[in-house]
Amino acid sequence: MSQVGRSRIHYTKPSITALEIGYATDAAANGWGEHCYDYIQRFEWMFREHLGAKHSIATSSGTGALHLGMAGLGIGAGDEVVLGDINWIASAAPIVHLGATPVLVDVLPDTWCLDPQRVEAAITPRTKAIMAVHLYGNLCDMDALQAISDKHGVALIEDAAEALGSVWHGRRAGALGRFGAFSFHGTKTITTGEGGIFVTDDADLYERVLTLSNHGRARGETRQFWPSTVGFKYKMSNVQAAIGCGQMERIDELVAGKRHVFERYREALVDLPLALNPEPPGTTNGFWMPTMVADAGSAFDRDALLAAFQADNIDGRVFFWPLSTLPMFEARPDNVVANALCARAINLPSYHDLSDTEIQRVCAQVIGQFGRGT
Ligand SMILES: *Cc1c(COP(=O)(O)O)cnc(C)c1O
Repeated sequence: MSQVGRSRIHYTKPSITALEIGYATDAAANGWGEHCYDYIQRFEWMFREHLGAKHSIATSSGTGALHLGMAGLGIGAGDEVVLGDINWIASAAPIVHLGATPVLVDVLPDTWCLDPQRVEAAITPRTKAIMAVHLYGNLCDMDALQAISDKHGVALIEDAAEALGSVWHGRRAGALGRFGAFSFHGTKTITTGEGGIFVTDDADLYERVLTLSNHGRARGETRQFWPSTVGFKYKMSNVQAAIGCGQMERIDELVAGKRHVFERYREALVDLPLALNPEPPGTTNGFWMPTMVADAGSAFDRDALLAAFQADNIDGRVFFWPLSTLPMFEARPDNVVANALCARAINLPSYHDLSDTEIQRVCAQVIGQFGRGT
């Protein structure tokens, strides 16, 4: 049946108001010369205040923040970094760029994040870090991972790009590990267009990363154009940071919008044989991306649902593929949970001000798919 005229339901889009536009306009008009870092410094301050972290460095992307942080830890050729097999490539790519090897372990069936038992089994003398990626806002088991990190003397780092608003027993995701990285890509809970941030409580690591982030020029170096090491160029611009300042002033509203959307989905889909993002006791899920995973054995056809979405002008997305199924990584047939999840899972549309009527339209398609199969 043709659905011509049905408005497009995007899977995600930013929430930009007159506040962000005003700051960006001011930055474009006045943010030069001695003011060229004003919004950057304010954004870094607002972000670390929100998170409860001591140090922050705004970057041009989340990938760049991860790259800088791992370089600052000295991760390099021959080293290994353990992470979950279900992930976006951005978490793994900087590991490869540093000459290290991503070790892809299986995930837990309920959080879709790395399985601590599999992490411990994967530790070798070459392991330098465990990367906790809080997938779709779901939290990794940080207590179990911290215990493994302490026992084996390897760093626990956080890719919290998807976890703004997620809280683990009173502490915000991204502020729990040796360092945290966030992304402000246009699909994320807050955006600067493109952008990211590195956060840490570790003063020495902060100094190393600050130097690396400034093309190897150390703070306090008095000679001009004098790098002491080969660094990186992953800086956020002042105009981007201006947008970010507006977003940070609205962060509670933006996170609340994500929660509202998730709760409407939970209510509407409660009777179906599927799981949504978990929120275990003592934690808060930022619900960046509501995601449904059909129960094993239920009559669910992911591609049929995606086709039904498309016919109704709804933008649904497939769950991340296991990285180990991509051509550049070694296959991991033993990652049975990761390998089974993606065929049963779909990301649902979730921008902050998605209306209840639009959510009903999405849910009608999901319910219709289950009805068809049973
Ligand atoms: C978006 C994302 C990144 C990458 O962020 P960019 O800003 O696009 O570089 C990294 N990790 C995860 C988990 C992400 O979702």
